[in-house]
Amino acid sequence: MTDVFSDLVGQDEAVAVLRRAAASAAALLRAPAPAAAVPAGAPTGAEGPDGYDDLDALADDLHGPGPAATPDPGAGMTHAWIFTGPPGSGRSVAARAFAAALECAQGTGCGHCPGCHTTLAGTHADVRLVVPDGLSIGVGEMRSLVLRAASAPSGGRWQVVIIEDADRLTEAAGNALLKAIEEPPPRTVFLLCAPSTHPDDISVTIRSRCRVVPLRQPSAAAVVEVLVRRDGVTPEVAGWAAAAAQGHVGRARRLARDPDARQRRDAVLAVPRRLTGVGAAFDAASALIEAAEAEAAASVAEVDESERAALQTALGAGGTGRGAAGAMRGAAGQLKDLEKRQKSRATRAQRDALDRALVDLAAFYRDALTMALRAPVAPVHTDTATTAGAGAQKWEAEGCLRRLEAVLQCRTAIEANVKPRIAVEAMMLALWRG
Ligand SMILES: [Zn+2]
Repeated sequence: MTDVFSDLVGQDEAVAVLRRAAASAAALLRAPAPAAAVPAGAPTGAEGPDGYDDLDALADDLHGPGPAATPDPGAGMTHAWIFTGPPGSGRSVAARAFAAALECAQGTGCGHCPGCHTTLAGTHADVRLVVPDGLSIGVGEMRSLVLRAASAPSGGRWQVVIIEDADRLTEAAGNALLKAIEEPPPRTVFLLCAPSTHPDDISVTIRSRCRVVPLRQPSAAAVVEVLVRRDGVTPEVAGWAAAAAQGHVGRARRLARDPDARQRRDAVLAVPRRLTGVGAAFDAASALIEAAEAEAAASVAEVDESERAALQTALGAGGTGRGAAGAMRGAAGQLKDLEKRQKSRATRAQRDALDRALVDLAAFYRDALTMALRAPVAPVHTDTATTAGAGAQKWEAEGCLRRLEAVLQCRTAIEANVKPRIAVEAMMLALWRG
C-alpha cells in the first residue's frame, strides 16, 4: 500500500479534497496557540485547551449559516462530511481512508503508522464505525454514539464517527445526529456515507451542515488499471470484468479473480434463455435467490478475512505510539465488536447481492433494447450479446422495454420491503409472459 487513499479508484478530485483537509486538520492540531491556521478575527487558543475554539471558529468560517463564501472549498477542515456516490464507487472506503488520515501520525494518511493501521483495521480507540444493524439505524444506537463521540480523543487527535448508509437512519436517529452536528464537540468529526444528497437519502438540515464529497462511478479504464496494477489481472480479463461490473470496483475484482463469481453471473444471465414456462419461471426465481445468497456469503468471507488479518496486524504491531497503545487495550472487546459488525454486514450483503443480480439482468434487457433500437452503444454484457441480439429480434423494442421495466419494478418492490422471493417470482412470470 502506498498510502491510505490508494484504494480509492478513479476518484482523483475527491482524494485531492481529502488530502487538503487532512493537511489542514493536522495543521490545526500542531497549532494550539494562536497560529496561521486561525482565520483573522477569530478567537484564539485563550478560550479553551488545545485550540478547540480555533477549530470551531474555522468550521464556522467555512460552513457558517447561510451560503458562506468559500473560495476554495477543498482547502480547509470541517467537522461534518457526506460521501455520496453509486454503490461500489467507494463511499465507505473514502470515509475510512479520510479517518485514517485524520488519525495518522504524519497527518497525511501515510498507510504505515499505527494511527493509519488501527483505523483501517477498525480498532482505533477514537474511530467509531456505524454499520446499520438490519435495515435502519435506531435512535438508541445514535444517542449513545453521539454521547461517546463527545469525549476528548484518547489518541490526542480526533474523535471520528463514520456512519455507513446514513440514508438508513430512522428519523429520530437523524435528529439525534443533527443535534450533534449542529453543536459539534470540539474535536469530533462526522463522516456520513449515502447514495446521494437527495432529501430521501439525507435530511436537508443535516446536509446543510456538511461538506459533500461526491464520488463518481469510476471509469472502466480506472477499474482496469487498478485490477492490472494491484491484483495482477491480465488486461483482457480486466477489461471484460470492468465492463461487466458497470463501475462497481469490488464486483469487478471478484469477477476477474473468482471463477465462482463468474459462474454465478453466468447463471443470472442464463435466466432469459431458461424462461420456457411457468415451472421454469419459478425454478429461475429460486436459482436467482440462491445465487445471490452464495454471492453474499463469498463477498463477506473475503472482507471478513482481510479485516481479521488487519486486526491481528494491528494488535501485534507492537508500535510505541499512542495509537498502538490504544489498540492494545481491550483486544477481546475489539474482536467482539468486529464479529458483531461482520454479522450485520452479512445480512445486508444478501440484499445487496440480489440487487446486483437484478442490475446484471436489467443490463441484459437494456442491451437487447439498444440492439432493437439499433442504438450505437456498446453492450454491457459482451459475452451475452448474441443472446441479447436474438431477444431483440424476437421481442422488438416494446417487448425488451417491458421486460426491462419488470426487472426494475422488482428492484423497487424489494426496496419497499416486499419479500424478495415473492418479488422475484412475480418478475420471472412477467419476463416469461413478456
Ligand atoms: Zn499514518
